[in-house]
Amino acid sequence: MDRHELARIFNETGLLLELKGENPFKVRAYYNAARTVENLGEDLEKLVREERLHEVPGFGAAIVKKIHEWVQTGKIEFYENLKNTTPPGLLELLRIPGLGPKRINQLFTTLNITTLEELEEACAKDQLAALPGFGVRTQEKICAGIKFVKEHRGRFLWMEASASALELRDELARHPAVSRVEVAGSLRRCLPVVKDADLVAATGDPRGVMAFFAGLPQVERVTGSGGNKITALLRNGLAVDLQIVGEEEFPFALLYFTGSKEHNLDLSRRAEELGYKVSEYGLFRGEERVFCKDEEEVYRRLGLLGIPPELRENRGEIEAAAGQQLPDLVGAGEIRGVFHVHSNYSDGGTPLAQMAEAARAAGYQYLGMADHSRSAFYAGGLSEEELAAQGREIDGLNREYEKSGVDFRIFKGIEAEILPSGELDYTPEVLKELDFVIGSVHSHFNLDRETMTKRILKAMENPYLTILGHPTGRLLLERPAYEVDIEAVLAKAAEKGVIIEFNANPYRLDLDWTWIRRAKEMGVLIAVNPDAHSPRELELARSHLPVARKGWLEKKDVFNTRTTVEVAEYLAARKQRS
Ligand code: CA
Ligand code: ZN
Repeated sequence: MDRHELARIFNETGLLLELKGENPFKVRAYYNAARTVENLGEDLEKLVREERLHEVPGFGAAIVKKIHEWVQTGKIEFYENLKNTTPPGLLELLRIPGLGPKRINQLFTTLNITTLEELEEACAKDQLAALPGFGVRTQEKICAGIKFVKEHRGRFLWMEASASALELRDELARHPAVSRVEVAGSLRRCLPVVKDADLVAATGDPRGVMAFFAGLPQVERVTGSGGNKITALLRNGLAVDLQIVGEEEFPFALLYFTGSKEHNLDLSRRAEELGYKVSEYGLFRGEERVFCKDEEEVYRRLGLLGIPPELRENRGEIEAAAGQQLPDLVGAGEIRGVFHVHSNYSDGGTPLAQMAEAARAAGYQYLGMADHSRSAFYAGGLSEEELAAQGREIDGLNREYEKSGVDFRIFKGIEAEILPSGELDYTPEVLKELDFVIGSVHSHFNLDRETMTKRILKAMENPYLTILGHPTGRLLLERPAYEVDIEAVLAKAAEKGVIIEFNANPYRLDLDWTWIRRAKEMGVLIAVNPDAHSPRELELARSHLPVARKGWLEKKDVFNTRTTVEVAEYLAARKQRS
């Protein structure tokens, strides 16, 4: 029983009810139920077995009934009905920034809009501007939003697509005629957003393996097949290309279909210079085929160190591999602790002590708590008194760790709003009580580039700022980055010794990898932060590290690879300076 799946169903039920313009109390009951399920301290299965669901605060009779139904039948009729009676296009409209369920319901009931295209047409006809509560500016914003959504149609977050592709890979690996199979393409290169998944499998029975693939339960329909390739659409909408090759061709096909195209082009140029020819089929010297057992060996034959897939973007990796200068990429096991963690003091779902326990259980040695600051009222931001109370709780826990000889420490921090003026959310007297301060922009995203840059640079001048949080504010597939001069931000970070966050939330992955490389060049430290709101999100700092690594990160470039003592010293020294 996957409680995350149940939480997802309840969340979507709330959303669908909202789209239908249902009573807000009813809507909220489902959102609350989703949160409760997600953060339940007790085992859900046990509660069902012992018929104690109704004892959980927030579970009304209707919710209890639906959980029982879900446990017994694997689905919830009420939810299925709602889904089947809602035009599917309405859900896509939700992806437009600034367009929530209420407005979508209004568009549906007044203008009968059910798809993105219909909405686009209504905008073109100026119909939205005249609606109550909309206006010309809102119409313009929605128009821009439609463009954004259209550009990102059919795109997937790295994590979602990875999960699907790895599942397929494992299924294929179990087939007796498949000797090797691997995920390739942009997924293997760990791009934050991908448009499809590529797999390469080696087998002596292409027909059998293709038929097996077509029959997998994840496959909705086959969209093309011929030669050594079969393409399919999965039930979750992800398009998959499966390349079938012979055993000897496998390393070359994997290399070729991993890309990038530019990397491959450079590689074949190099091969030619050395008197070889390399393609998806093999490495050749004249007519003679040169056997290679894996990708490493192909690179070696070409006088190169093996290049990790994350780096294959034609950004100097081939030259670096030729000169034995490839970066020694930071590994997930080297992440010793995490900063930017929320608890139920603000909008996290879990008590602080439990988050700390979860971090310890995950093998981290320290945890940097950073709940929201007072102006983040939408996220339950902390008043000065609450912040002080949290500090006392942290002191107490740290004392206990020390007393019982546990090698774990909690650092006191805050995710302070960077106000439109560029001020941080608390006075220096409050900030100086903390071990570290993350500054983030969560409001007034629409400033022009100059004003936004000034705002952020001003915050970075604040001597108490330790880390700049999610520097561009983007939400992948949902909201573009705000306008900001990143080069200037990085220069300021280098000047003031501000650490830049790589926010490992799958929707953020912000700072983008292309800029991480620049940050590194400028000598700016990166903190790989999970921005965790629940225990399971603590893992994001490790699971999404490969995306950050695209910026050539080594252990020394990542702040939270340091030991507890090193981190404590760094933070203390930084406070000394302020
Ligand atoms: Ca691809
Ligand atoms: Zn934030």
